Amino acid sequence: MGEVLIMGAEVIVTMDGARRELAGADLVLRDGVIAAIGADLHSSGEIVHAQGCVVTPGLVNTHHHLYQTLTRAVPGGQDALLFGWLKTLYPIWARMGPEEIRVSAQVGLAELALSGCTLSSDHLYMYPGGARLEDTIHAAAELGLRFHPTRGAMSIGQSAGGLPPDSLVEDESAILNDCIRVIDAFHDAGEGSMCRVGVAPCSPFSVSRGLMRDAALLARDKGVMMHTHLAENDEDVAYSLAQFGCRPGDYARDLGWVGEDVWHAHCVKLDGVEIDLFAATKTGVSHCPCSNCRLGSGIAPVRAMRDAGVRVALGVDGSASNDAGSLIGEARQAMLLQRVQNGADAMAAREALEIATLGGAQVLGRPDCGVIAPGKRADIAIWDVSGLEAAGAWDPVAALVLCGPSKVRDLFVEGRQIVRDGQITTLDMPRVIAHQNRLARALMA
Ligand SMILES: [Zn+2]
Repeated sequence: MGEVLIMGAEVIVTMDGARRELAGADLVLRDGVIAAIGADLHSSGEIVHAQGCVVTPGLVNTHHHLYQTLTRAVPGGQDALLFGWLKTLYPIWARMGPEEIRVSAQVGLAELALSGCTLSSDHLYMYPGGARLEDTIHAAAELGLRFHPTRGAMSIGQSAGGLPPDSLVEDESAILNDCIRVIDAFHDAGEGSMCRVGVAPCSPFSVSRGLMRDAALLARDKGVMMHTHLAENDEDVAYSLAQFGCRPGDYARDLGWVGEDVWHAHCVKLDGVEIDLFAATKTGVSHCPCSNCRLGSGIAPVRAMRDAGVRVALGVDGSASNDAGSLIGEARQAMLLQRVQNGADAMAAREALEIATLGGAQVLGRPDCGVIAPGKRADIAIWDVSGLEAAGAWDPVAALVLCGPSKVRDLFVEGRQIVRDGQITTLDMPRVIAHQNRLARALMA
C-alpha cells in the first residue's frame, strides 16, 4: 500500500493520552498505519493539503441496523413508541432478501463515511428471503469501511408471546450454528482487522433466556464480542419486570451479559445500581441520542455513566428510528441532550468528540483505532472548517460539534482514501442510490 502525507492541518486532534491538539502539524500514513506525526514531515507519496482543516481520528459507530435505510420515514412508524413502531415495520422487513440487505448496507455505510465514520458495527437480527450476514460484509468491503457486523437473532415469535411475527424468527440451534459459521468464515481477530464478527441476540423481548446464555458461552468460546439492546425505554423495563421478575441489569448479569467483551445499545433506563454494575464490569454502552429522541424513549444518563467510569460510545441506530445516519450529528445530539438534563456544563464539545472517536474504539475492543499516534491504524477524518458552516468560529475543534461542517472533506480507512472532496471514491453512488430507491418502491407495493 502507498504512502500519504497530510500537510499543514489547522489542527490535528490526536485523542492520545494527553489529548494533544497539534496546530499546523503534518501526518504520514504508510501501509495502513500512522507512520509519523509532527512538523515539517516529508514523503515521496501522495500529498493531501489540509490547510483550513481539522484532522480527527475516524469516528466509530457502535450501533446500527443498516437494512433499515430501506424503511426511513415509513408513515405508520413515524410517531409510534418502540413496540408499536416495531409491529408496524416487522411485516415490511419480512419482505426483504439478500439484495435489499446488501444495497441498504452500502447506502447506510456510505452515509456514515461522509459523516466521518471509519469503523462501524451493524446489528442484523433477521434473515428474510435467504439473506445472510455476508451480504453486509461484502457491502462494507466494497466501500472500504472497517466493519464489525454482529450475527443478531430473534427466536420468540408472536405465537410464543414475543413481539416479532413468526415468519421472522429462527430456530435457536440454527442461530447458534450460523453464528459459528460466520465467525469461522469472516472474523479476523488480528491487529488492523477490517472485519470482526460479534454475536448479538436482538433483545430480551425477542429471544429466550436459553439463547441469551448460550450465545454468551459461544461468543466467549470463540473470543468474539457480544451485543444486544438493553433498557431502551419504560416499556422495555416493564417487560423485563413482568416476564423475568427483574430489572434489565440483573437479567444481563445473570446470563453472562456483562464484561469488557459486551456492549449494550441504548441503556436509557439504567438505574444507579446498574450503572455501578456496568462500571465495575467494564461493560460498554452504545448511546443513540437521536433514536432515543425520535422514539420518545428518554435521555440516557450518560453524564452519570461517564462519571461512574462506564465506557460510553455513540450509535446512530437503525435508519427507521433516526432516520438520518450522521455520526457527527449524533455527537452534537449527545452533547445537547446531557445539557437539557443536567445544565450547560454537563458535556463539552470536546468530550462529545472523544466519545465519538476514542470512546467507540474502546467499546469495540480496538486499541489500534480511535487515536492519532504512530503505530495506530490510519483511520483519519479531514474536516474543512474554512467554509460556510464554521465561518466565524473561534475554536475550530469545538466548532466541529457546535457548528459544523456536518460532512468530511476527506476520509482515510487503513490508509486508503474512501472519501475525496466530499465524494465516495469506491462506489458509484448515484447508481447505488437509484438501486436503493427501486428496492424501497418495490417494498411499498
Ligand atoms: Zn437498535
